[in-house]
Amino acid sequence: MSTPDDALERVHARITAACDRAGRDPASVRLLAVSKTRDTDAIRGLLKQGQRAFGENYVQELVDKHDALEAPPEPAGIEWHFIGPLQSNKTRAVAERAAWVHTLEREKIARRLHDQRPDAHGPLEVCIQVNVSAEPQKAGVTPEALPALADAITALPRLRLRGLMTLPAAQTDPESQRVPFARLRELRDDLCRRGHELDTLSMGMSGDLEAAILEGATLVRIGTDLFGPRPA
Ligand SMILES: *Cc1c(COP(=O)(O)O)cnc(C)c1O
Repeated sequence: MSTPDDALERVHARITAACDRAGRDPASVRLLAVSKTRDTDAIRGLLKQGQRAFGENYVQELVDKHDALEAPPEPAGIEWHFIGPLQSNKTRAVAERAAWVHTLEREKIARRLHDQRPDAHGPLEVCIQVNVSAEPQKAGVTPEALPALADAITALPRLRLRGLMTLPAAQTDPESQRVPFARLRELRDDLCRRGHELDTLSMGMSGDLEAAILEGATLVRIGTDLFGPRPA
């Protein structure tokens, strides 16, 4: 097998290989390019190759890059995803710029995003971040608190609940990597049995995208393997 020499092609090849192993259609997995700490030139490079969805972790970076790249006369037309911790005093900037938020974990934040979402943009696509193994100090709702938050979000018409997201502790053993991803899939299935229509599992990063795809990921969030190591 020849190895593609380009980072974006290499990541797509990994996704395709993992989908083959899982018996899944590669078109069922979206690639989110995680551009935190990268500059607009790095984003433009991937845009030229056809990558459209980019993820940012810090509100100020989202604002700066969005406003630089989406300015007239030639807006880039990027689909911006917010994937970092979100405080209530920063929700407006995100509600006005992002297409997706992956890290909802509080009803208060959901309400603010809803109230601040401009009508012209259509609903904000959201995922609830779940702390699947209920580790102390980690972001995300506990599995126990998930159904109530899902119900609360679904009642907000300017938000559209698409699914669940998780960011498990890094592990190198591929079998252990699958455990939290399988748990997130089960939690999604539980919510679907309760009447929610969820099509998204946002899980898998550079080090564990294969494990995530084997457990049903529909969106993988890749930074390092697209842009190189982040400066410390
Ligand atoms: C940084 C980050 C990623 C990308 O991680 P890599 O290991 O660089 O691929 C994905 N998701 C979230 C939430 C992140 O903060």
